[in-house]
Amino acid sequence: MAICAMLGHMSAPRQARGGVLVVGGGFAGAYVARELGGRGATIVSKENFMLYTPLLPEAASGTLEPRHCVVPLRVMCPHAELILGSVNAVDLEARTVAVETDEGPQTVGWRELVLALGAVPRTLPIPGLSEHALSFKSLADAINLRNHVLHQLEAADAALDEAERARRLTFVFVGAGYAGVEALAELSDLAEDALRYYPRLRATRRRWVLVDAAPRILPEIPPPLGDYAAAELRSREVEVHVETTLVSVSAGEAVLGDGTRVPTNTLVWTAGVAPNPLLREWSLPLDERGRVEVDELLRVSGHEHVWALGDCARVPNTRSDRPDPPTCQHALRQARRLARNLVGPPEPYGYRMLGQVATLGRHKGIAEVLGLRLRGFLGWWVTRSYHLYQLPLAQRKARVVVDWTVSLFFRRDIAELGQLGHPEKLG
Ligand SMILES: Cc1cc2nc3c(=O)[nH]c(=O)nc-3n(C[C@H](O)[C@H](O)[C@H](O)COP(=O)(O)OP(=O)(O)OC[C@H]3O[C@@H](n4cnc5c(N)ncnc54)[C@H](O)[C@@H]3O)c2cc1C
Repeated sequence: MAICAMLGHMSAPRQARGGVLVVGGGFAGAYVARELGGRGATIVSKENFMLYTPLLPEAASGTLEPRHCVVPLRVMCPHAELILGSVNAVDLEARTVAVETDEGPQTVGWRELVLALGAVPRTLPIPGLSEHALSFKSLADAINLRNHVLHQLEAADAALDEAERARRLTFVFVGAGYAGVEALAELSDLAEDALRYYPRLRATRRRWVLVDAAPRILPEIPPPLGDYAAAELRSREVEVHVETTLVSVSAGEAVLGDGTRVPTNTLVWTAGVAPNPLLREWSLPLDERGRVEVDELLRVSGHEHVWALGDCARVPNTRSDRPDPPTCQHALRQARRLARNLVGPPEPYGYRMLGQVATLGRHKGIAEVLGLRLRGFLGWWVTRSYHLYQLPLAQRKARVVVDWTVSLFFRRDIAELGQLGHPEKLG
């Protein structure tokens, strides 16, 4: 009898706090839980922090300490409960999800389910891509890329012939949206800072190559700002190949659609994102790109108690004639509306974009705010101020300001810490 009671207790699903289960603790999910405040929620996420992605390029280049561009979920959402794990199944009838945790599988029940599973890098069937390209989506990617670039400098310094040195000092970025352009600009600054400590490499040509299939870089922003960004990159001798695709990549070479063969050990793939592929397994209504279809209340079509937002959803916007693009600023506004819809009479979501900002490395940036176009130092300053304002938690803002202040007076740190995650075994 006692055993039956115990088993019954063990198999009963744990219930989400306040009845609201948020799947995914990224920008969208974390803000829903934060906005729900004292009403509480349970977040299931693979990490115990929210990554503030706009600062990822600076984390990669060493202007910012990587830990400072993440926000711990338990601090950001003090009234929410966090289950660290991965959701691998959703039962829409029984209103439960199955979570894989370090302590084994768990079942969690919900009254309202919020899907905020984000996106994954969008890949194409290009020979060599999955084996040889580096991704730039997560904090681990940023740290890995930084160590990889610094490692290339060390390898170039040790190389015995000039061709190998040049190959090591050639960096190809495929995808000229925000992530690709900002990452290239920041990392080329890092490499230039570092190279002053490599006297043997001074005469070796450095190549930074930006490739995109579209006719312009940064297609999301007004053409004059995109043209300024392209001119700025070219003035730093970045080779910009537009209307060009990647044909193949191997351990030592990238081949472009226009026939150019680029000897390189570094290809960074930043060519967009695709909705989390897990969604395809859960019998949800999806659009042609695999995004969950929601109505203007952010409710999943045909499911009264299931909601979705952020990069994993196709969100109609009453103040725009297009569904929202996958950006933090949209995810944040969707989260605010969704949290209100969970606790009161639901209202349609609408948000008019206030502007767009991007940095182009040290003291250079572009910004379009309320119709005003800014570039150069002013664009850079507005971009940084905007991110500082948006970053949650005063303690995080303070850490970022300290990092930025230090970087005004000192050069970037060039220690390559790639071996840190692989300590040597005892004995
Ligand atoms: C390098 C880079 C730079 C960017 N710069 C900008 C910028 O400057 N401005 C801007 O507006 N936008 C920017 N973006 C886009 C922005 O990051 C996204 O639009 C935003 O993060 C979307 O939030 P989200 O919560 O939908 O997804 P994410 O932030 O990706 O969060 C998804 C969450 O779901 C979790 N998850 C996934 N699968 C599971 C599972 N099975 N179980 C549990 N949890 C799971 C993940 O761990 C993650 O925490 C950038 C993106 C990148 C990659």
